[in-house]
Amino acid sequence: MLKRFFLFLLMLCLLFPCAFAEAVPESAGMDWQENDPWPHAIRNGNRTQRRVAVTMDDCYEFEYVKKAWELISSYGGSMTFYPVGDLLKEDKVSQADREMWQAIAASSSEIGTHTHHHKRMTKETQFNQLLYSKYPQHVIDHLLGYHYPLRTLRPPFGSHDAAYQKQLEKVGYTHVILWDVDSTDADEVKKNVQNGSIILFHARKADWYCLQKVIPWLAEQGYEMVTISELLNLPPLEKTEEIFDWSVRKTEYLNK
Ligand SMILES: [Zn+2]
Repeated sequence: MLKRFFLFLLMLCLLFPCAFAEAVPESAGMDWQENDPWPHAIRNGNRTQRRVAVTMDDCYEFEYVKKAWELISSYGGSMTFYPVGDLLKEDKVSQADREMWQAIAASSSEIGTHTHHHKRMTKETQFNQLLYSKYPQHVIDHLLGYHYPLRTLRPPFGSHDAAYQKQLEKVGYTHVILWDVDSTDADEVKKNVQNGSIILFHARKADWYCLQKVIPWLAEQGYEMVTISELLNLPPLEKTEEIFDWSVRKTEYLNK
């Protein structure tokens, strides 16, 4: 009897694999240019150009944000940060940290969003999907003092599906960014990096040790270290004076 039950379960898994797996596309990246069913979930850029995007998530420890940014800048490179929105609320950030984020925003590096809280977005209500994805725009604009469009989004845990994608489109996100290299072991990173790679790091000590080995090595190997926007050949960000206010735009988004 038990054997039959397990056979039945096995058959279910074979017939409906999606129901048992995280709804993350197997491979986007280059394919996004060629009728990919997940055109906005990107794991890598063009594989024929010697360029990579170094990215840093969460950003709980600003100290390592600063160190990484200064290091990559010293090699003439740029990187993309995906901070959790809640960390950047004006009342939580010191003047020195605010100035650091303003300097990053004004530099050749880029800021995207990792949503407002670090939650698994595919498990959230539709309202929370909208709120947590778009509220960071309110936060970053108030922190910087001008409108800095958060164009790309990296979902916490890489958790992404078609329903969430639809919500993201409502609030103007055009690109969900995943990654194809994820390790704090420098040798592992060196082994896996290739043209167009999107390399995932976090703002913490282990990643900082790794970055100190990886960034000089990438430069030596002739890799250009670019932002996600550059890797994907997106037009420059349009920064304006009109600060985004969630309370003003909320109704418009909810009615979409
Ligand atoms: Zn994260």
